[in-house]
Amino acid sequence: MEKFSPQTIYVPPITLAAIREIATSLRDILSLKDDQGFPTLRVLERMNDKLAEEDREVFQVVEDEELPLAYADMDSATGLIRLRNSCYQSARSGDKEGLFTISHEYAHSICHRGVKLHRFAADVSIPEENDAEIQADSFAIELMVSHRFLIGNLKRLGADVISDRFSIPLNKLREHIVRMHRNGDFGDYSIQLELPL
Ligand SMILES: [Zn+2]
Repeated sequence: MEKFSPQTIYVPPITLAAIREIATSLRDILSLKDDQGFPTLRVLERMNDKLAEEDREVFQVVEDEELPLAYADMDSATGLIRLRNSCYQSARSGDKEGLFTISHEYAHSICHRGVKLHRFAADVSIPEENDAEIQADSFAIELMVSHRFLIGNLKRLGADVISDRFSIPLNKLREHIVRMHRNGDFGDYSIQLELPL
């Protein structure tokens, strides 16, 4: 997640269908039910514990000053995620922004490892499916909440309740609901959602 960067990162396209398939596979590996969130922080901590014996790691907590331009980043050559200590601590205390940042970086490590990242200024318009930040946001949300749960419960619960329940920042969830709407996920029912939320 880029905090201050006025840049857009152009990458090869990934469809929402492909993102959903991978995110759903990861949820299935953990046997998560549709009403359960994805424990990204615990998964990464467990991976670090296992890799410590080999002196390797999937994420690193660094002092905030070491990452002056972002809460976190991912080295596309190695897949290593670096998190500001303040971001890590906020995620550990259950803060939505912190938890989302970690899932977003995890998404980058899955979608963009080994991918050449082309950076553009923010005012350069590129197709949404080529935008690395949108890909990572979409992946993070499809991981954190089952699309089936969203499709089946959005109207009844509302985006704000789902945001609290799955620890997803409301603005990020709303942006994704709009993408899902464009993808046809809500069918005729989308007419009643009064999008954008
Ligand atoms: Zn990002």
